[in-house]
Amino acid sequence: MSAALIDTEEQHDLRAAVAALAARYGRAYFQRKARAGEPVRELWTEAAKAGYLGVNLPAEYGGGGAGIGELAIVLEELGAAGCPLLMLIVSPAICGTVIARYGTEAQRRRWLPGLADGTAVMAFGITEPDAGSNSHRITTTARRDGEDWLLTGRKVFVSGIDQADAVLFVARTEDARTGRLRPALFVVPRDTPGFEYRPIAMELTAPERQFQVFLDDARLPADALVGDPDDSGLAQLFAGLNPERIMTAAFTLGIARHALATAVSYARTRTVWDRPIGAHQGIAHPLAQCAVEVELARLMTRKAAHLYDTGRDAAAGEAANMAKYAAGEASCRAVDQAVQTLGGNGLTQEYGLAALITATRVGRVAPVSREMILNYVAQHTLGLPRSY
Ligand SMILES: Cc1cc2nc3c(=O)[nH]c(=O)nc-3n(C[C@H](O)[C@H](O)[C@H](O)COP(=O)(O)OP(=O)(O)OC[C@H]3O[C@@H](n4cnc5c(N)ncnc54)[C@H](O)[C@@H]3O)c2cc1C
Repeated sequence: MSAALIDTEEQHDLRAAVAALAARYGRAYFQRKARAGEPVRELWTEAAKAGYLGVNLPAEYGGGGAGIGELAIVLEELGAAGCPLLMLIVSPAICGTVIARYGTEAQRRRWLPGLADGTAVMAFGITEPDAGSNSHRITTTARRDGEDWLLTGRKVFVSGIDQADAVLFVARTEDARTGRLRPALFVVPRDTPGFEYRPIAMELTAPERQFQVFLDDARLPADALVGDPDDSGLAQLFAGLNPERIMTAAFTLGIARHALATAVSYARTRTVWDRPIGAHQGIAHPLAQCAVEVELARLMTRKAAHLYDTGRDAAAGEAANMAKYAAGEASCRAVDQAVQTLGGNGLTQEYGLAALITATRVGRVAPVSREMILNYVAQHTLGLPRSY
């Protein structure tokens, strides 16, 4: 385990290379694209060509053959340069992992090379308007029609559908023997008749948009189902959850590092009395406290990634939840303090910090809220009774 606490030489090199690439784009580029509502295509393509976006996917399908730990490094460094790429959580981490672990050979060959080299993007949809945090309540249902499937239901807050070739939807199928509904994952190409999506007006300045989805007897071929039709689908679903939490932690930690670096650089030079504001402990101590909290959350994220990448899924589950929580909290505090450090400039577009207030809140809400993680820790780590 101790080796997991610091970067290996390869991880160190990967971190430095991604940081150098991202620095050539930087916060101003990202903000410009986000405000125009455009995807950050140039950055995405260059990072993908260099092998960074598919670093976690199996080498035999064009990926880098490394782990979620490496993909988290990529996302953290992009964020630290002011370019937090939300779709990295979804496309290679959730969808890539589920298909690599549970897809059929044909599905792997169809999707993984594109997800690895960035020419294909896949979104992920589980959240439903009437289920929210209670994913046991989802009602999107797939029923057989001959060999095909017909998918019907509604989803909300699905990120990046307009940039994606397909969406991996979590639905339910009826068990032929018991009649009970069980989870099942389907790859649904964006142009499937019966699949409609509309953007939700969000207060986020980001290159990705969120969508509500209407599935109305969307017809899918038999091989749209990921994995074995006789399987429960739960394993497929859970395969994506730990990478999703670890990557969300990396997303918010990158944002936190960017915000802190901006604040520190400002505090070193901004002088309104006779010394830089960073010399006042009222400014320095909160920033130092944020730096400690961010570093602790990074450590927890590394632990979660290490457990996951070494196949210890159960232990990774607890660690990934804790890491996502710790990173989300540390990041919200760091961004808040960074904005305060810049005074009025904290709210200008020039410094680009104000938009991070909402960006980093995403880590408190999605993919699982702060409260639901505390429920999990209370119940599973502490053994307290379940309250809901
Ligand atoms: C920017 C953004 C991007 C997203 N991208 C995606 C995506 O790509 N795909 C996707 O499927 N989803 C996505 N989501 C959805 C996200 O995962 C959900 O918003 C999240 O799971 C919470 O669900 P909800 O919004 O319905 O909140 P609710 O479930 O309605 O919860 C509302 C509040 O009640 C609290 N609460 C609920 N139950 C309990 C309880 N038992 N105990 C204590 N507190 C409780 C919650 O913690 C929360 O604070 C995204 C959301 C955002 C904001």
